[in-house]
Amino acid sequence: MGGTFDPPHLGHLISAQFVADELNLDEVIFLPTGNFSYKDSRETAEARHRYDMVELAIADNPKFSISDIEVKEKEYSYTCFTLEKIRKLYDNSHIYFIIGADSLDYIDRWKNPQHIFEQCTIVAVSRKGFSQEDLNEKREELLKKFEADIIILEMPCIDISSTDIRKRIRENKSVSYLVDSSVAKYIEDNNLYK
Ligand code: ATP
Ligand code: MG
Repeated sequence: MGGTFDPPHLGHLISAQFVADELNLDEVIFLPTGNFSYKDSRETAEARHRYDMVELAIADNPKFSISDIEVKEKEYSYTCFTLEKIRKLYDNSHIYFIIGADSLDYIDRWKNPQHIFEQCTIVAVSRKGFSQEDLNEKREELLKKFEADIIILEMPCIDISSTDIRKRIRENKSVSYLVDSSVAKYIEDNNLYK
């Protein structure tokens, strides 16, 4: 599961656990993006902070792990190349790439989508603003255009976003029950998002 995780929140964790259960996955690897990502329209917390927060958030789940593949990149990292690296590390495994409905909507605008689709099964989960029909339509489109292998998993929408959490912090509101308590403490200790 790739993401900026700025910060990681319960929507990420709930989705990951839901997919792991539905597909009986052995492991979910969280892949925080490095300091170079395409979210340039705003300031992103440093990669080391985002990495540490993900590490804290997943600490008590033996099925969840974290990879520094993208965090340690000195250049932009692209999902198609990250998948190449993951596949080398997990030689005999089938790789699923977990995304939210909003990401499925624009995944064909990422670098080399064909190469992404030929390396993994995409698993897309519900997210507010996207209906099941939207998701199925997009799936059909990507199947036709790229022969993409896409699983759509319907789950109750968890209406939490990092954008909203950052806004709440700026406004001195609580983020309890939206992020893991260890993450809330980390944000406070490091004075992030003020
Ligand atoms: P931002 O608001 O900064 O974009 P975000 O909450 O969307 O943050 P990301 O780090 O961008 O979090 O998301 C990483 C991946 O997790 C994306 O594929 C996204 O679609 C998915 N995701 C994030 N939040 C949820 C959620 N609440 N439910 C389902 N999927 C989610
Ligand atoms: Mg997002």
